[in-house]
Amino acid sequence: MEKFDLLVIGAGSGGCLTAYTAAKAGLKVGLMDCKPEAKIGDKVCGDAIAGHHFNKLEISAPSKGLDFNSEVKGVKVISPDQSITFKMEGRGMSGSIVDRFRFGQRLLKSAIESGAEFQDSMLVIEPLTEQGYVRGVTAKNLKSGRKEDFHAKVTIDATGIAAAIKNRLPEGFVVEREVSKRDLMACHREIRGNVELEQGYCQIYLNQSVSPAGYFWVFPRDGGKVNVGVGIQASMKGPHPKTQLYNHVLQLPFLKDSKLLHAGGGYVPTRRPLDCFVENGLMIVGDAACMVNPIHGGGIGPSMFAGKLAGEISSDAIMRDDVSRKGLWQYNVDYMKGYGAKQAGLDIFRIFLQEITDDELNYGMKNKLVKESDVLRASVDGDLKLSIGDKAERAFRNIRRLDFLIKLRAVSKKMHRLKNHYFNYPSIEQFPEWRAQIKKLY
Ligand SMILES: Cc1cc2nc3c(=O)[nH]c(=O)nc-3n(C[C@H](O)[C@H](O)[C@H](O)COP(=O)(O)OP(=O)(O)OC[C@H]3O[C@@H](n4cnc5c(N)ncnc54)[C@H](O)[C@@H]3O)c2cc1C
Repeated sequence: MEKFDLLVIGAGSGGCLTAYTAAKAGLKVGLMDCKPEAKIGDKVCGDAIAGHHFNKLEISAPSKGLDFNSEVKGVKVISPDQSITFKMEGRGMSGSIVDRFRFGQRLLKSAIESGAEFQDSMLVIEPLTEQGYVRGVTAKNLKSGRKEDFHAKVTIDATGIAAAIKNRLPEGFVVEREVSKRDLMACHREIRGNVELEQGYCQIYLNQSVSPAGYFWVFPRDGGKVNVGVGIQASMKGPHPKTQLYNHVLQLPFLKDSKLLHAGGGYVPTRRPLDCFVENGLMIVGDAACMVNPIHGGGIGPSMFAGKLAGEISSDAIMRDDVSRKGLWQYNVDYMKGYGAKQAGLDIFRIFLQEITDDELNYGMKNKLVKESDVLRASVDGDLKLSIGDKAERAFRNIRRLDFLIKLRAVSKKMHRLKNHYFNYPSIEQFPEWRAQIKKLY
């Protein structure tokens, strides 16, 4: 039976950053994953990451010759009838397409080199709990078939969408357990070759009939390849994302002669973050805590940011000998201020986009009821600010579609309110009241 200061379950981007940060701070850190070491980083993903995420971290951005695939200068958002393209560059839109496998391997190597003890092929089955505290985990060694207990002062659930520890907590713990299917995106993604596409721009297509309550994407990679996929709200009882990819997306002229290189699927929690990420002796990081941008599903950056915070705050709590919920609470506050508040604002914009029809969106984009600057501002800041002059001008030009503008104004107000609510994250004592307010605000 091994005892760690910190035991991190899941060696994805969130778990590796947590382990790296805590081991550097001098903790005895264990890091486990159910995959064999050679498969770490092998994840079905869009592979795009904005450069600004690395400003908050102590690790470098992807580099050429190592884990960088191609440059992203900006994002194009394309209307349902494909007649309008919003091209957004600069402010938070530039970054890179990564070699996801090498990127994952690099993060793992950083964690190991900073002192974390890595054990692969360890499937965590359940948390060990005692007197209201998480004290470690029970895991099955997939090589030997044996079950073992691992003890730690603080355990980290960084198991991605599986949320293998959070979802198996016994009664009495307060973190949200259920993530609604309406807040999950079911995706099918392929890497395809033999494609001629302008380099440097990630393309996002909004189209309710192809990708109900979701979107489809085409991200260019080097060597005439693309990362192409369809995401559909998981609660929809329609065709599978793969069927939609083959029946619609691959029919686009520039993809007709493309060749399949790799295919896979996955889920993304595209919603506001969980309202609390800590229990006594437990912290939740990354997809397991719904730390994903609700508009485009980007979760690599937020998971790494959360991992850094979790590594720092757990070290501090262990040093102070207080790993209670209260002792770990600062993690909630810092994540919400640093990214969660933006996510909460964007969640309102996501619901708005899911509810409008293709006709409304075509009209809105064509007639500048929604502008490029709105989408840019919403995705960078989580806010949608319409000035009085701006509202009047749009209303005057679009007198027949005032209903749309009224909706947009309501969305803008609500985004602002939600963002502020999460930004002003409460103390542990005021949490129940703050949590009750969320229901009212939604
Ligand atoms: C199709 C698709 C496209 C995406 N595109 C993008 C994109 O372009 N850009 C972007 O930023 N994000 C994208 N995302 C989201 C992004 O991949 C995730 O948000 C991010 O990888 C989350 O990191 P994580 O560390 O929380 O989880 P993960 O990277 O999923 O890591 C979790 C780890 O936990 C391990 N694990 C799970 N259960 C157990 C268990 N019981 N015991 C032990 N280990 C376990 C897994 O093996 C895994 O290694 C996409 C996701 C999907 C599905």
